[in-house]
Amino acid sequence: MRKFLTYETLIKRKPLYFGQTAMKEFILVDHLEDLDAESKYLAHKAKDAANHAYAPYSKFHVGAAVLLEDGTIVTGTNQENAAYPSGMCAERVALFAAIAAHPEAKISKIAIVAKRKGGKDLVPATSCGPCRQVMLEFETRQHKPIEIVMQEQNHQWVKAASAESLLPFAFTSVSLDHGDKK
Ligand SMILES: [Zn+2]
Repeated sequence: MRKFLTYETLIKRKPLYFGQTAMKEFILVDHLEDLDAESKYLAHKAKDAANHAYAPYSKFHVGAAVLLEDGTIVTGTNQENAAYPSGMCAERVALFAAIAAHPEAKISKIAIVAKRKGGKDLVPATSCGPCRQVMLEFETRQHKPIEIVMQEQNHQWVKAASAESLLPFAFTSVSLDHGDKK
């Protein structure tokens, strides 16, 4: 039987992180200032980081700031390369740097911002698919969702409650373990 599944229905499905609720909510606000203090602070850290992006090809300077449970902040920027696929997004630079330096840490939140080269104002930038997939891997390994703060294409600021919320029907370690079971 053909069944239609809306996103509203989908997000009510059982989350990957057992015992936790409300991981699939989105908060949307018109201005960064309308977000909570922690999210704003983290976005400003990401903005500072974006100034040091290496983006000579796209001129699209991205900064990411990762907040660890103990309050530590680790930032990353996009690192482009003349051999384009060799480059790396700011989110993954920040996430990998954070866990490399703090292997026992759990990640609470990540903020992503972008600006054009020489521009002062932030421009919309939402995480690419591979970065969402990497965030999801962190969530499954730490059994804790990661909040994601970013500006979407209509210039609203989004606070997503988890990477899982950004990846319906995701493939995870759970899929590897249970993919053949009903
Ligand atoms: Zn990415």
